[in-house]
Amino acid sequence: GGKTAPQEFEENALSEVKHVIAVLSGKGGVGKSLVCGGIATQLTRAGYKVGILDADITGPSIPKMFGLSGRHAHALGKLLLPEVTESGIHVMSSNLVLQNETDPVLWRGPVIAGAIRQFWSETSWGPLDYLLVDMPPGTSDVALTVFQSLPVEGIVIVTSPQDLVSMIVAKAVNMAQKMDVPVLGVVENMSYIECPDCGKKIEVFGKSKLDEVAAQYSLDVLGRLPIDPALAAACDAGKIEESLPAEFLSQALAACEAVEA
Ligand code: ADP
Repeated sequence: GGKTAPQEFEENALSEVKHVIAVLSGKGGVGKSLVCGGIATQLTRAGYKVGILDADITGPSIPKMFGLSGRHAHALGKLLLPEVTESGIHVMSSNLVLQNETDPVLWRGPVIAGAIRQFWSETSWGPLDYLLVDMPPGTSDVALTVFQSLPVEGIVIVTSPQDLVSMIVAKAVNMAQKMDVPVLGVVENMSYIECPDCGKKIEVFGKSKLDEVAAQYSLDVLGRLPIDPALAAACDAGKIEESLPAEFLSQALAACEAVEA
């Protein structure tokens, strides 16, 4: 268990969630959703029951990645029922409750906060080993809502190489500290490209500062992901579950399993 007593948070009778882990980034577009979906897939392959709460309300990309585009969440009385992916991951997302998934979400802050709370306390998650939360990007008050509404036990921070030379990682780390939630570690995404001919790794954005920055904030490094056009195409096609390499983010998987202890 984390530092926060679960009884402080709303629960519902049809959810029995053992561990809640949030995937956070300092800004949008760094691959937070891909990492969230990837860790969920790896946990599922390892035999756990997994859900994803897509708290990125205004930029939801989890349903598409798992081939759930066009699907709609059903209701059971007052409770929402998650949609279930091919490999059994339970997903709740604003895209599953909108009439048309191309409708922009123009909700104001309090409405977004309400949706996030509803996705936790009024969704029938059933028994889950892990609920991963795809966080709204950045350290806004919408992100705060998640920490105030859900018993988050650990945070995975996703960064791009550029974030590591600015204050963006510091902001994410500070938020975790203020919320008293441990950071499980950091993933650097789009870290390099691998030459398809010779296998040489090219650090497009210059030499990675990941180890330096991780040491500065006492963070574990949970992996470095290359820019991978095939993986991007698989996510676009809704096939992340079948396309993810076997070794994908194995250290992040281990960090999630360590929360169990
Ligand atoms: P975020 O959740 O941080 O906004 P996403 O996970 O939605 O970012 O990723 C943004 C876009 O970049 C998506 O189209 C995704 O497929 C692509 N992408 C993310 N990581 C990679 C990667 N390592 N290689 C190639 N494309 C990637």
